[in-house]
Amino acid sequence: MTLANELMDLLGPVGFQTEDTDAYQTDWLRMQDHTPMGVARPKNTAEVAEVVRLANAADVSITPQGGNTSLCAGAVPGRAGQIILSLSRMNGISPIESDAFCVTVGAGAVLANLHEVLADQDLIFPMHLGAEGTAQIGGLIATNAGGSHALRYGMMQDLVLGLEVVLPDGQVWNGMRSVQKDNAGYQLRKLFCGAEGTLGIVTRACLRLFPAPVSRATALLVVEDIQALMSLGQTLRRELGEVLTALEFFSDIGLELALLHLEGLKYPLETRSAAYVLVEVETSSGHIDVAQLLEAVLAECFAAELCIDGALASSDAQRAVFWRLREEMPEGQRLEGPQIKHDISVPVAKVAPFIAEMGGILEQLLPGIHINPFGHLGDGNIHYNLSPPKGQSDFGDLKDTLSANIYRMAEDAGGSLAAEHGLGSSKIAYADELRSPVERQLMRQIKQAIDQSDVMNPGVIVTRGGPQDKLS
Ligand code: FAD
Repeated sequence: MTLANELMDLLGPVGFQTEDTDAYQTDWLRMQDHTPMGVARPKNTAEVAEVVRLANAADVSITPQGGNTSLCAGAVPGRAGQIILSLSRMNGISPIESDAFCVTVGAGAVLANLHEVLADQDLIFPMHLGAEGTAQIGGLIATNAGGSHALRYGMMQDLVLGLEVVLPDGQVWNGMRSVQKDNAGYQLRKLFCGAEGTLGIVTRACLRLFPAPVSRATALLVVEDIQALMSLGQTLRRELGEVLTALEFFSDIGLELALLHLEGLKYPLETRSAAYVLVEVETSSGHIDVAQLLEAVLAECFAAELCIDGALASSDAQRAVFWRLREEMPEGQRLEGPQIKHDISVPVAKVAPFIAEMGGILEQLLPGIHINPFGHLGDGNIHYNLSPPKGQSDFGDLKDTLSANIYRMAEDAGGSLAAEHGLGSSKIAYADELRSPVERQLMRQIKQAIDQSDVMNPGVIVTRGGPQDKLS
């Protein structure tokens, strides 16, 4: 019997399809499109394990898929004929253990649905990103997602207490503990955070919850230049302490594109300048006045001329206007036309020097190039996106050179070429090039130890061809 027939027998027509696979096989940015053998949508862990076992026996590889919002083509097959394993039917959310501040969720639960379910429990799961209406918990774990609140609450690996994972040979690892402190050996749960589906399939998770904020204050600030951005960021971090929840930035180039292309988008302040900061503080304590705190700190910032204009959100609607400006940065640039996206990180103190130096280098390589840096000022994560010079429809043959320069400089600065989106298949060659021989070997040894036959998402994290080939 063929693998397709076996999977149809196992999962039935609701759980397995070989037609209408377009939405599953093409990634968000339409970089990759290979027809799979089929899409499996198992309904529980036992079915996932059986799919993996059958695929293994037939020597067919599997690409796990969540919401398919990967920005680096990680959730679609790198070759035709693979199986896409979608977790979308495994979307349960329960139980919510409010006294223990944790919840058990199926890997296919959509992040926004989790937020919604928690809303009437006075609890939050503090992961927020632009794709939260589609991205699933399993995908967020597998990419170790960051988002706008990572500064305060950490990345996905800091929010996962326990995991259940189907391993590449079909065995199930039940690591569904619900404690933060667990030093009984290697940190297996963290190993699967950011593994991008290359070491196994996350099927369930126990996640940390936090008391819901009862008050919040948000401000949009205007700074003179990128250097002022750094000084302002440092002051806000020191003075706002642990209630600082988000510290985001964007440039005037990005604002201009967003205002040009997005209907209904409004800039609410009078002054335009080189860069903007969005700062948010919140607390779950009724005894702390975060609005007063933010006002006092901003008064100091204005007195020290760290910012030249700004406003505190006076309502939820105005807060939404501030956030929309920051969140529409990628969309504004997408609508402008061709672009190259980079998701890098540098040590926070090096954000301004990086932007200044890198800008000079890119201008020499391609005069007039449009650089649109925005992102998470608090943790040095810069979305460093490029558009061609005015009047030019693409980057000529410079695409790889531009990206290679950016990744090399981020690495040399002590940062990373992949801050929060992962590598997928689109960045693996750059990553492999930048790794030291020791780091490359460690990555390959980990892959080989857990997925000897390279059945899980081949061509991601370690270079294609099978880890065993590369280790010899
Ligand atoms: P998918 O895209 O389906 O998969 C991502 C990777 O995880 C793939 O390698 C896939 O094989 C693997 N995978 C999926 N499910 C599983 C599973 N159950 N077990 C094992 N492996 C699995 N990311 C950020 O970190 N911060 C942001 O602020 C952010 N903003 C975004 C904004 C937009 C508009 C978009 C489109 C994307 C954004 N992203 C961001 C990227 C993306 O949303 C995240 O990477 C997210 O974590 C992917 O979740 P997903 O469910 O869509 O995973």
